[in-house]
Amino acid sequence: MDLFEYQARDLFEAHQIPVLAGAVAATPEAAEVAAAKMGGKVVVKAQVKIGGRGKAGGVKLAENAADAKEKAKAILGMDIKGHTVHQVMIAQAAPIAAEYYMAILLDRANRNFLVMASVAGGMEIEEVAHKTPEKLARVGIDPNKGIDKAKALEIAKSGQFPSDVQEQVADVLIKLWAAFVAEDATLMEINPLVKTEDGKVVALDGKVTLDENAGFRQPKHESLIDHASTNPLEALAKEKNLNYVKLDGEVGIIGNGAGLVMSTLDVVAYAGEKYGVKPANFLDIGGGASAEVMANGLSIILGDPDVRSVFVNVFGGITACDAVANGIVQALEILGSKATKPIVVRLDGNNVIEGRKILNDAAHPLVQQLDTMDGAAAKAAELAAK
Ligand code: GDP
Ligand code: MN
Repeated sequence: MDLFEYQARDLFEAHQIPVLAGAVAATPEAAEVAAAKMGGKVVVKAQVKIGGRGKAGGVKLAENAADAKEKAKAILGMDIKGHTVHQVMIAQAAPIAAEYYMAILLDRANRNFLVMASVAGGMEIEEVAHKTPEKLARVGIDPNKGIDKAKALEIAKSGQFPSDVQEQVADVLIKLWAAFVAEDATLMEINPLVKTEDGKVVALDGKVTLDENAGFRQPKHESLIDHASTNPLEALAKEKNLNYVKLDGEVGIIGNGAGLVMSTLDVVAYAGEKYGVKPANFLDIGGGASAEVMANGLSIILGDPDVRSVFVNVFGGITACDAVANGIVQALEILGSKATKPIVVRLDGNNVIEGRKILNDAAHPLVQQLDTMDGAAAKAAELAAK
């Protein structure tokens, strides 16, 4: 889960990382109130989960509270790379002397944690990494040792931070590592980490990704979820413990096993080219395709107004095809008149003969069977195009 900047700021503050005052506002009036409380100059910042807000005009300096209201009016509702701005953060303005970069992330390729640090912050770090890689220190972190004072100073030095800020930068690194571990993050990035004109090192922008797999031991993270922009079908699927991702096509997909579902998406995308249709979702119902799980999956897919046909692609393994076929028949009984769209089923694998017979005998008017994955994908695409 990615956080908004204001949530990252609050999290940093809770872990003693130096930040400036910040408050979130959803209307120009609330922005004015927040700015008045803060006093002096403020920065009005679009709260969208995408980088490059500065360049897109989503970060504006305001002279006073009245100006903050005007700037908020301009930024709220703005579209930044497809993200609509619903909230702004009012941040106390800082006189900036230098902009740095610092991040801790899970480096999956190297199966390790990685710190990246650079004096060349502010701008897009990809550009620094590409054009002047010598300016970006990359240091692997042994998770058993973490970041102590010596390690932090070593990183500050290899990131070429000037000697007058090395101590402060090292201190931020130690605290950022502590926060990273305590919050079960996979990314914590500060860009820019600034030196103010009076020589203080402060985090001005934060990007945080929390590991949802650790949600069970992070009850506080529940409140950080952005329910307003969660897709309602995905929210429902999550409630039902289904691995569902909404896509923007017309052919609903159900399969067992992530690998099979991924290849089903490919095959349907390919078959759909002819008709201009695409997969509408990813849905893996996993190993035990019981009637209840099948009914939950089908009802979510049938509840998607974009869906015009459904492709159920199951390879019987431990859960054999006859069990899956019974699941489909019972699911359609449970759904009754809620099932309204044609369903193409392809069964293969363990007990396939029995499975196909069960569906044939049930003779549900919406269901048709095909023997091959390609054939079934083509049929589902054709039905979606009608
Ligand atoms: P991003 O473009 O989405 O990464 O947004 P940032 O929060 O990093 O802001 C972009 C730029 O705006 C920064 O690199 C700073 O140069 C500037 N900026 C942000 N906050 C302040 C501030 O408090 N004071 C001043 N003077 N500039 C700021
Ligand atoms: Mn930034």
